[in-house]
Parts: sequence; C-alpha cells; structure tokens
Amino acid sequence: MNTSTAPRVLSLGAGVQSTTLLLLSAEGRLPPLDAAIFADTRWESAEVYAHLDRLEKEVAIPAGIPIHRVSTGDIRRDALDPSARYAQMPLFIRGARGGEGMLRRACTDEYKLRCLKQRVRELLGYPHPQRVPAGVHVEQWIGISLDEASRAVGMTNDVQYMRLEFPLLFLPGGAGPIHLGWTRADCQRYLASRGFASTPKSACIGCPYTSNARWRRMRDERPAEWAEAVEFDEQIRNGYARAVASGKPLAGEAFLHRSRVPLAEAPVDRVPRSEWASRQTDLFEELADDEVQERGCSPWVCRGEDDQ
Ligand code: SF4
Repeated sequence: MNTSTAPRVLSLGAGVQSTTLLLLSAEGRLPPLDAAIFADTRWESAEVYAHLDRLEKEVAIPAGIPIHRVSTGDIRRDALDPSARYAQMPLFIRGARGGEGMLRRACTDEYKLRCLKQRVRELLGYPHPQRVPAGVHVEQWIGISLDEASRAVGMTNDVQYMRLEFPLLFLPGGAGPIHLGWTRADCQRYLASRGFASTPKSACIGCPYTSNARWRRMRDERPAEWAEAVEFDEQIRNGYARAVASGKPLAGEAFLHRSRVPLAEAPVDRVPRSEWASRQTDLFEELADDEVQERGCSPWVCRGEDDQ
C-alpha cells in the first residue's frame, strides 16, 4: 500500500522499461504503485495488446495495481476519416519540387499524453475543467533507462499535478532513495528472468519512426498488420483525409518509410550498420540511424524522434 501522500502512477507504454517498472513495484523492489495508465492509440500490434493482457492478469491484478486503458481515439481511423479531427504523425514528405522533409509530430501529445493527463486528473478527483489545487499531484513514474538518461534531464512538464520520477535511474523517497541505474539491457535481462523476455516494442503499426528491422518482422511474421500499414501508406499519400477533403492536400507526397517510396516497394531488406551492430551484441546502448522505433513510443518518450 502507498503510504505517501501523492499517488504513484506509472505511465505504462507496455514496452521494456515500463514493463520493468510494473514488475519491480509488484514484487516490492520499488514502492507500491496506485495505478498504471496505458494510453491506447488503438493501432498497436496484436502482440502489444496480448502482452498488456498478460501483464494485467499475471502481475497487476495479483499486486492490486489497476491498469487504466485510456484513449483519445483511433489514430489510423482519424487520419483516414474526412470528418475526424486528426493529429499529425511524423510522415516523411517529398515536396512538389523534390525537397525532403517530415511533418511535425503531434500524435504523441494527442493520442497518448492528453488522455493520460485526463485520467490522472480524474484519479486526483479534479477532472477537466476543474482546477487542480496547488500542491495536489501524483508521483508520475516514467520508464527511462540509464542509456537514455539525457532524455530525463531535458524533460519538461507543463502541468503541476504530475511530479515526474524516473525510478530506473533514481527514486527519492521517505524510506531512503533508491539508485537502480538500470540500462535497457538490464531491464531486458530482468524481464527474461521473470518470464517476460518477449516484451514487445510498443508503437503504432504504421508509425513512420519504424526501423527496417521492425518493418521486415511485420512483413514476414504479421502479414495482416503489414497489409494494414501498406494500405495506410497508400491512403495518406496526399495528406490526411480531412485536409484533402477541405481542399488542402499536401504540396507533395507523404510516406511511412524514410526512403520516401511506397512502403510496399521500400527497401526494408536493407540492413543498416546499427542493426548489424545490434545483431552482434545484446547491449542496445546506441540508438542510431535506422534503429528507430526498436525501442517503442510512450507518452513521454517517443524514442524515434531524435534520430530523424
Ligand atoms: S508510435 Fe509513432 S505514430 Fe504512434 S503515437 Fe508514437 S510517434 Fe505517433
């Protein structure tokens, strides 16, 4: 039971780091959590939803940690629906004159952070539009590991009702601070020792930050999801459906793959240097070039964004 005044809430992306935090709390190596929140874009791989179901059944429920599944909407459907609000994914763009660029990423804020914040307000007893009184906050746990600690250093929070904590690095507390200092590889070893070696990467099926390795696995092992991504890629070529319907198509073309060719024809079999390196070691300490989205997307940490 949490005896501190601020509820402890885990941002559960269901990837390696946040799964580790849930297990560590459930087995008492970290303080007890009051809740875990999974922000669902409704376009995750089936293996992510299966992992989440298993986590809930085998870890969270026995430990008395409720998992809240929240959602702002269906990111895929909204992009293709001319009447829907949408938030931009970081699509790769080839401009009308051949120039290359990317759309500004707004999807994480809209489909992950917004609903997470709403649920935190509800848990505190001050749902929107009520004002959360000064001093009322949750201890918001975020799964950032030592190899990516710089993300925590620069992380800003625009709401005072969440106090951000990074327990894989360091956790202050009444019973004394906890210095874990775990890398992603430490998390993977720990998960393997607990029977969760197959923890998947959490990310939208059609996320443009996807690496060639993940595209290949999708194509070869989950053909229905690959077909969805290929179809989506074709459908967003001229931009989002609502923009097209309102007479504002892209001045150029949009693509899911960084090569800026249709996904069905994209060079996903090309193995970048970073992938060769990761095949030779299980220490994923470097994140470079085409390794993006091997680590997944969470409300606070979109792990592909620095690599574009
Ligand atoms: S996984 Fe990709 S598309 Fe989905 S919310 Fe994160 S950045 Fe956006």
